[in-house]
Amino acid sequence: MLAVPAARAWHYHESSGTTGEPISTWCGLEELREMASYVHRMVPELDEETVLLNRFPLFAPVSFVFEEALREAKACHIAAGNVSWDVPFTRALDFLQKLKVTALASLPLEPVLLLELAREQGIDPRRDLGSLKVIFCGGAVLPPALRRAIESDWGARVVEIYGSNETMLMGVGCTSGRLHLCTDLLELEILDPETWKPIAPGGRGIVTVTSLVHEVMPLVRYVTGDLVRLDADPCPCGRGGPTAEVLGRLEETVEIGDARAMHYDILDAAYEFADRLGTRIFFILIRPRELHLLMEVADPSRPHPEDAERRLRERLGMPITIERLGPNEVLDRSALFRTPTIYKPSVISDWRGSGRKTITIMEALLEWPRFDGKTLFHLARRQVKNAARRRRLTREDARGR
Ligand SMILES: [Zn+2]
Repeated sequence: MLAVPAARAWHYHESSGTTGEPISTWCGLEELREMASYVHRMVPELDEETVLLNRFPLFAPVSFVFEEALREAKACHIAAGNVSWDVPFTRALDFLQKLKVTALASLPLEPVLLLELAREQGIDPRRDLGSLKVIFCGGAVLPPALRRAIESDWGARVVEIYGSNETMLMGVGCTSGRLHLCTDLLELEILDPETWKPIAPGGRGIVTVTSLVHEVMPLVRYVTGDLVRLDADPCPCGRGGPTAEVLGRLEETVEIGDARAMHYDILDAAYEFADRLGTRIFFILIRPRELHLLMEVADPSRPHPEDAERRLRERLGMPITIERLGPNEVLDRSALFRTPTIYKPSVISDWRGSGRKTITIMEALLEWPRFDGKTLFHLARRQVKNAARRRRLTREDARGR
């Protein structure tokens, strides 16, 4: 899909390939700048005082949209992608504190994990990390209950960023919390997934885009596969143009019996339920005949409120089983601390001083944390319990319970 010689492109990226072959994408500097400028204009918190901790992986183009937005805002960029070992979660949390970071950009789950890590260290984000004003969330759906949770935990405004590697930026959240589609970057058509006719405002359709500014890899009526609900009324922020709710990939539709829900709906209901249980941490299994929720709570022996469970069931209308688990059973917080330390690759080690005595290239490159007996015991116990749980649930599914 490259329309110019490769050297004329500014960036090359590939999708992660989670759902098949990685997709190659190319982009130019000018188009990237137009997108960055769009983000800058939409978000009043981006100004000369901004210090942004960018947790988007460097191999995702959105990371560079932020870099350009900060260049335009004359602000400071901390490039610290979350999938590289040089800035693990603990170091990211340290940056938030020590560097008086005012903005964070990440997947929506990142603030949830950072919050758990902060609490583990006795840090309250609202009290101790008050410099943070805005959190950009992109790269995954952002159901309303998750947005509310992040905003209340961090005392910061959440701005949704919608895009993909191929299309680049497609939408940015406004101060009224709506997502404005980038109609000056792309010609957007929201089409019915069955008839391929444009849907009316208020309806749900697939986002199809034609590039207006992309010259390096222009797209013509490119079917993204993303389902959105187009808002029927104008946005209270006063900006014109369409706004929409991004519901996720069309294939993220779950059908169990007669009930149908998207991952988005399931997550929204689960985050709302979790909030009633005083937790942010859960894991959802989509099984052939039901949803299975593993909810991590402070005290699993204490029953959860009946009305909360009733509401969860009513919202999704499908069979659900709920298992309450104790602290660290769904998220092992200590594992967020147990990341390896990474050094520059080297083939020489000086054993004369008190430093590390490495003996292979891999040892020189990586230092794994040492586990004490107690940690090893907990890890082994959890592994055994998880394996038993997996076997039990698989057996139940096979028996057609
Ligand atoms: Zn608006």
